[in-house]
Amino acid sequence: MARITLERVGHRYGHAPYALEPFDMVLEDGRSYALLGPSGCGKTTMLNIISGVVRPSEGRILLDDRDVTVVPISGRNVAQVFQFPVIYQSKSVYENLAFPLRCRRWPIARIKARVAEIADLLDLSGRLGKPAWQLTVDEKQLISLGRGLVRDDVAALLMDEPLTVIDPQMKFQLRRKLKAVSQKARHTVIYVTHDQNEAMTFADEILVMSAGKVVQRGTPQELFERPRTTYVGYFIGSPSMNVFDAEIGAGGVMIGGTPIAPGGALPSGLPTSGLRVGIRPEYASLAQPEDSDTLAATVVGVQDHGSVRIVEVAIGTARARLKLGRDIAPPSAQARIRLRRDKLCLFVDDHLIAAG
Ligand code: ATP
Repeated sequence: MARITLERVGHRYGHAPYALEPFDMVLEDGRSYALLGPSGCGKTTMLNIISGVVRPSEGRILLDDRDVTVVPISGRNVAQVFQFPVIYQSKSVYENLAFPLRCRRWPIARIKARVAEIADLLDLSGRLGKPAWQLTVDEKQLISLGRGLVRDDVAALLMDEPLTVIDPQMKFQLRRKLKAVSQKARHTVIYVTHDQNEAMTFADEILVMSAGKVVQRGTPQELFERPRTTYVGYFIGSPSMNVFDAEIGAGGVMIGGTPIAPGGALPSGLPTSGLRVGIRPEYASLAQPEDSDTLAATVVGVQDHGSVRIVEVAIGTARARLKLGRDIAPPSAQARIRLRRDKLCLFVDDHLIAAG
């Protein structure tokens, strides 16, 4: 394993605008990271720069203290798993898994033991003797994953949406297994995904990306509770964070004339425009008509998700969603909504200035 340092690393493909804007970052030894963001935001470019598939147009990359900026993937001691299977079709499953170890001249007994361990983990034990071409695409991708996991001495394990072709039923279990095996090997792992659930369950830390930039880095809980921008608030969480235009008045922070948080704890010198309040659907609830500091809402729709209900409401001209437990009766057409004061996020020009 290794610490990965990116110093002013940036990349442009030819004369196109930056696919990755120059930035500094240190990824710590033995931790797992998810690169999360919409299509085209630069996740794969960043991963390929770290692995050596792409040479950055600017900056330096260090694995521990070794400058590897111009070293190709073969000289970096990293393992990379791609979105689609990269395997030897004519070789057996065993040979595919053993190949990276043979290249490193592991003793035969050690190779056999390690291949058996990885095959067992990925439920491939019964197919070790089969040629890879006879397997389904799911199984072929499991071989690819196995080839990435089989070495326990890599500086980093890099995975680019590795579960895309895997059957959805298997994904959950496989994520857990991937996490367990990489934790055991104390791999530094970087995992590219646009699926927040995958990022949340797999990574110690998530790097949220947008348009060639890492816009926030944090644990799943930090991103959920303290999104640095409204973009992260929208991108993390399901449903997304509710964001309302707000103003400062006699009652503190107000939405459409209703006070929702006292002014005492607010940062001083707040601008009068560009103020917005964010609240997660989990932290908005139904209130009684006589309760104070609640918002009048019209129920627009109720979606039944089995264990929870998502209630969509209109509050003035704004729309918001509430996530309510099944034990709470769905509201009638008109409702009062309470926002948990200790969970409010205050944004100015879409940047967080206060939370909680
Ligand atoms: P996806 O989730 O769709 O794979 P991504 O977040 O991984 O997207 P990248 O593949 O890194 O994003 O692409 C970032 C930007 O660079 C995009 O605008 C893309 O069109 C561009 N790009 C990526 N690869 C190349 C290439 N080989 N040549 C030219 N432009 C490229």
